[in-house]
Amino acid sequence: MYTPLQSLREGRWFKLICGASFQHLPAIRNLTLAYALAGADCVDVAADPAVIHAAQEGLQAALRLGCDRLPWLMVSLNDGEDPHFRKAVFDPARCPADCPRPCETICPAQAITFDRSADGHSGVIASRCYGCGRCLPLCPIQQITTQATAITPGMIPALLAEVDAVEIHTQVGRLSEFRRLWQAIAPAASRLRLVAISCPDGDGLIDYLRSLYDYISPPSAPLACPVVWQTDGRPMSGDIGDGATRATVKLGQKVLAAGLPGYVQLAGGTNRHTVPKLHALGLLYRQETVGDHCTTAPPQSSFPSKFIAGVAYGSYARVLLSPILERLDARSAPLLEAVSAAQTNAPLSNSSSYQSHLGSYDSPDDPVSLGRSITPQTAIEPSLAHLERHADLLAQAVAQARTLVTQLKGCADESAVAVALSHKPALDTIPILPKPG
Ligand code: SF4
Ligand code: SF4
Repeated sequence: MYTPLQSLREGRWFKLICGASFQHLPAIRNLTLAYALAGADCVDVAADPAVIHAAQEGLQAALRLGCDRLPWLMVSLNDGEDPHFRKAVFDPARCPADCPRPCETICPAQAITFDRSADGHSGVIASRCYGCGRCLPLCPIQQITTQATAITPGMIPALLAEVDAVEIHTQVGRLSEFRRLWQAIAPAASRLRLVAISCPDGDGLIDYLRSLYDYISPPSAPLACPVVWQTDGRPMSGDIGDGATRATVKLGQKVLAAGLPGYVQLAGGTNRHTVPKLHALGLLYRQETVGDHCTTAPPQSSFPSKFIAGVAYGSYARVLLSPILERLDARSAPLLEAVSAAQTNAPLSNSSSYQSHLGSYDSPDDPVSLGRSITPQTAIEPSLAHLERHADLLAQAVAQARTLVTQLKGCADESAVAVALSHKPALDTIPILPKPG
């Protein structure tokens, strides 16, 4: 069977970055599901047991839908201060009443709210913030700061036992910090399928990367799995604009030219312009259809290679699906509220909203009964907020994800489930809810 490792060898490796500090569990689950069905090779998540579990749920859902080739699950760790591992914080009580709230508008993750209707929350929703920093310079009273997120080395073995791969975020000059982190990773290294090292550009970058490789894979005890060099061009910026991809392409060329032992994969500013740019520069193997088959790059078994092995997409990939996930939220929130109200016999806060959402669910007239009618555990498992419960949205999400994945996969994209979902609005095999009328 075709494996993620083959994608890496053939220059078609697609990684979804959920975000090293992104912890919004429903979004992580549903993004993982959609991109798994679309043919992703790897899903990179925060080093948090709840996040890993959410991603695993997404993978299991993909499996149930017939996906026969699941992506690898990766966690990201850092050896020091890093913008990927932080959250914005501020005190909403200090905000002037007349502030136009540019922080709320700029946030690509809808992580800043004021008097949220559900619970009145104001400020940063920590689980949604992934540390991009865009809100920081916009605050007229400079009150937005960041807090680093960190895990203790003692947590690492248990986290690595749950995943296939690890990514280490480092920076030039942090060899001793890197070594300390690697000591916590090393006991689990023999069962990992991949070790990725993510590093931005800097003076002495290539020598630094070589010293890391010599440390983790000495001739006396070589690493059993492949290494990926992730060139972090312009961190967390792929959704900003077309030009964001230039820095990572340039950095990718630099690392590729160094001939390091390992695959080179881009990240940081990647978007829909990345693959065309790589093709234009001759840095990706170009596939062609020959008869019923498509040509593939000669498997890369030795280094250096002439080609970039793959691309990781973060903010761009998430933003691509966010309108669909927002529709899912809008559709499922009233249903979940109705279920909860029925379970507790609580009065409904907005029965017209329930009526409009529940009216098509073959339910009696009274809103509380409406809630009850879909409340029995048999009727609400899996959760109403799961993407696969809404076949139309699942099909849209997979189709959108495929617009990005197929750029890399080209004619070799053979995911039967993805093709079916892209062309058919609903799969008979999915226990779905009908679309509200
Ligand atoms: S703009 Fe970025 S740093 Fe600020 S709250 Fe949103 S995700 Fe967090
Ligand atoms: S920009 Fe600053 S002052 Fe204005 S709403 Fe946001 S945090 Fe408050």
